[in-house]
Parts: sequence; structure tokens; C-alpha cells
Amino acid sequence: MEFPFIEREDREVAAALAGEEQREAEGLELIPSENYISRAVKEAMASSLTNKYAEGYPGRRYYGGQEFTDAVETLAIERAKKLFGAAYANVQPLGGANANIATYFALLEPGDTVLGMELSHGGHLTHGHPVTYLTKIFNFVRYGMKDVETGEIDYEDMLRVAKETKPKIVLAGFSAYPRELDYEKFVAIAREVGALAVMDVAHIAGLIAGKAAKNPFDYGFDIMTTTTHKTLRGPRGGMILTRESAEIAKKIDKAIFPGLQGGPHMHQIAAKAVAFGEALRTSFAAYAKQIILNTKAMEGVFAKQGARLITGGSDNHLILLDAETSFCISGGEAEMLLDRAGITLNKNVIPGDTRPAMDPSGIRLGTPALTTRGFREAESARVAELMIDVLTKRDDAVVACAHEEVRALAAAHPIPESFS
Ligand SMILES: *Cc1c(COP(=O)(O)O)cnc(C)c1O
Repeated sequence: MEFPFIEREDREVAAALAGEEQREAEGLELIPSENYISRAVKEAMASSLTNKYAEGYPGRRYYGGQEFTDAVETLAIERAKKLFGAAYANVQPLGGANANIATYFALLEPGDTVLGMELSHGGHLTHGHPVTYLTKIFNFVRYGMKDVETGEIDYEDMLRVAKETKPKIVLAGFSAYPRELDYEKFVAIAREVGALAVMDVAHIAGLIAGKAAKNPFDYGFDIMTTTTHKTLRGPRGGMILTRESAEIAKKIDKAIFPGLQGGPHMHQIAAKAVAFGEALRTSFAAYAKQIILNTKAMEGVFAKQGARLITGGSDNHLILLDAETSFCISGGEAEMLLDRAGITLNKNVIPGDTRPAMDPSGIRLGTPALTTRGFREAESARVAELMIDVLTKRDDAVVACAHEEVRALAAAHPIPESFS
């Protein structure tokens, strides 16, 4: 029994929790923003630190009794700095969205401009989607890919827009872009117009920490914002890293508290400290490398099938696939069909999508969670084959047969409790 107390005292919640445990154990998770945490991270999240108010920062709190909150937050900060080569870290953001919002408020005045990635080319909601309140306060302008088939960013156009609109922030980073960026060019454009260079590494933080992807700080980026629960494999939460400027770091601290948030979630911060400790081990670098090898293995199977991959392939942990062109099926239908086979991924808009946002043309998939389960290239390739089978044949028998193999693959690779 995973939840003995809840089981005894609250059967309804216990049933939902047990259901989710089973769903995760028996299915294959291909949503590239999801992962499995260790038992150690889970223990920290369930600790008594959730009881404690700790408004402020280590050594500068509003309430008493901070001996242990200061200890865990300091550990989280020091480990984060070491992982990413940052001079400053704020580990209090409740999520990636909060990290971005606080960064805008720290560095901008209302009406100021942010130059960010075209949302349909992979940018995130918090990079200025019209449905967010951010667009009522700040002005978002866009750059995009020059060539969707290779993923190359249109740096010339980016420079032109930057010169024209004088952004205060040049923002890189994405939720659905499978390629590495030319960080030198981003930083050069930011410097040319006097903007700060900010990279939202929410998706690829684990790849950077594991040195399987380039570190934007090595190229002069000023700030990185991130989640801690995607490839970084920590608790749900966010973080803001500053490369070297004490002045920027101070503004960011003030923007998080008291500007945006109340009491920090100290149990989550303790869990971040544990996860960062795990990411500092050499085994994490091997994990990060394997994520990319597994993505390449899947890419190879899709390419052989003649499927259309946006940007032609992937350098990281995710693949964006044009399901409409590749398999004559909408992204929404593909998502539902694969769900029936125990394979979870998400529908996604693709650049120039002609279908509605609620049922776009693409699907987005990635390997961080499978890799945590110990999948290697052969098993990853097999998952891609099963996906192709389901998406091309679609009848109940094929779906049932694929589901059976998915269950067997999942059973052969149980979710690990620790990663050492
Ligand atoms: C996931 C993501 C976020 C938001 O993180 P939440 O924790 O869901 O708020 C922000 N930016 C990018 C690029 C992301 O992929």
C-alpha cells in the first residue's frame, strides 16, 4: 500500500492516488515535459517543511524558527549555482510561469518590449500569448524560423525587428523546438540593441545540467529561467539563475518576494535541493546523454517511415511530428488513439498550422521519462514502431496488440526509486 494513512482515512482520494500510480506504472509516458522523481525527492515533498512560513530569504526572514528552512534553501541555491555555472539562484518560483513573470517584472516597466519566439514555432504561453495577462502589461514582438524544414532561426529578421522595436529583453527558449540554438547570435543581437539576453530553459535544463546540451551562460546569456520538474527530474517548481550581475539578482529576488509570491513552498525547495544533488552526480550526465540517444533512435524510425518531422529531426529530447501530413490523422485524434494503446503524448500546433488549436496537425513526444525508466535505443525505437503501427492501421485489434506490448515494455522497466 503506497498511502496507508489516506487509504484508512479518505478512500476517495486514496482511489485517485492509487489510480495515478497504476497509470504511470503501466503506461509509457512520452510527454516531453514529464518525468519521474526519485523516492528521495518524494520524501522531501512530503516533509513537515510544508508547515512552515518562511517569507524572505535565508538569513532575512519575516518569521522566527528558520534554522532548517535556511539550511535547505541555502543547499538548493548552492547546488543550483554549481549545476548551471550561475553566480545567483532564486529557487522560490512556484513554477516555470512564475519564474518568467517575475523576470519580466524585475527587468521591465509596463509598456516595455520583449522579443520572443513565434508561439506557433515553439514559444511558451508565458512568452506573450494573447490569452495571458502579460500582454496587457508588456509588448511582445516575434522572431521565428527561416526554414521550418531545418529549424534555422531567421537571425537577420530578428535583428531587424530588434532594431525597430528596441526590446529590453531578447528571449530564447521553447516548449516545442527540437534544435540547438546559435546562442552567440542571440547574445550579439541583444547586445546590439542594449537588451538583456534571457533563456527559458524549462524543457532542456536537465540536458544542460548533464552537459548534453550547450550552456547558454557560456555564451553570455544574462539570465536563465526554468522549471525543475521536466528534464531536470525534480519536484514541480521553477527557478531563476543569474550569470553574474548582483544588481539583476537583487531585482529578481524582490520580484519573486514580495513582488509576486507569498510564503515559499519550503517542502518543494527541500525537494529541489535533493534533485539538484542527484543531478550533480555523474550518473545524471549519463542519463542526459541517453535521453538524446533515445530521441535519435525514435527519429530514425520515423524518418525511415517518411514521416514529416518539424525542423527535420531533433538535437534534444523532443520530436515535433506533423501527424496530418505523415499519417493523415489530426494531432488530437492521434493523441486519443495512442492513449488507447497506453502511449501518452500531446497534440501540438506546428508552424503554419491550418487546423484549429484544439485539434492541431502535430504531435509532440519526447524521451525523458522513458529514459528514466531505463529505456535505451532499441526499446525507444520499438515504441516508435508501435506508434506507427497504431497511427497507420488504427483498428481495434492493432491497438489492443500494441497496448499489450506497451504493458510488457512498462513491466520490464519499472519506474526506479533511486538513480544512483
Ligand atoms: C513548461 C514551460 C514553462 C512553464 O512551466 P510551469 O511550471 O508549467 O509554469 C515555461 N516555459 C517553457 C519554455 C516551458 O516549456
